Amino acid sequence: MKYFFQFGILGALALVLALCGCRSLSQGKITAYRGLLIREDLLDDNSYNRKYKYGNAMPKVEYITIHNTANDASARVERAYLNRRRDNVHLSYHFAVDEKEAIQILPYDINGWHAGDGNGKGNRASIGVEICRSLCDGKDEQLYRRSEENGVKLAAYLLRRLKLPVSALRKHQDWSGKNCPHRILTEKRWESFKQRVRKAMQ
Ligand SMILES: [Zn+2]
Repeated sequence: MKYFFQFGILGALALVLALCGCRSLSQGKITAYRGLLIREDLLDDNSYNRKYKYGNAMPKVEYITIHNTANDASARVERAYLNRRRDNVHLSYHFAVDEKEAIQILPYDINGWHAGDGNGKGNRASIGVEICRSLCDGKDEQLYRRSEENGVKLAAYLLRRLKLPVSALRKHQDWSGKNCPHRILTEKRWESFKQRVRKAMQ
């Protein structure tokens, strides 16, 4: 009887672990594109995030909007920061990408609040991509170069996946005039950025 009781407890524990494992597996899809790891780690589903970060249904994606984070944080840190923000500001985006990986933060069919154009198409019909490490003061400058290269791969992957042409790429600046993506703008590389994405789509 004692052994039966122990096995019963262990069995129940194993079942709970198995169920939790399946759940986290289905939420954490991992894809690779040209060597870039694209990992799903959506924002927590809680009432605050639903109100300020998960937008409305976005049945048709028309654009991919490129940003720079203007700090030195990794994609993982950006995702964690966004997840715990409680400043009553509507702010969110779909992907953060750094020199190591791309993290998907919002689903494809929900809009984020990243373009500064209210209910315009920047927010309501585009996927927001934050390229990290764009201000690496005193740090390894290659971190940004490598993050941007992964941003090129991610943009190419997204355009292919969503069946969009390179002309669907937008800068944050296009929607609201903000100086973003600041590195690409300051270094006058938007046209070459698009060329690199075109190449990475082939
Ligand atoms: Zn931006």
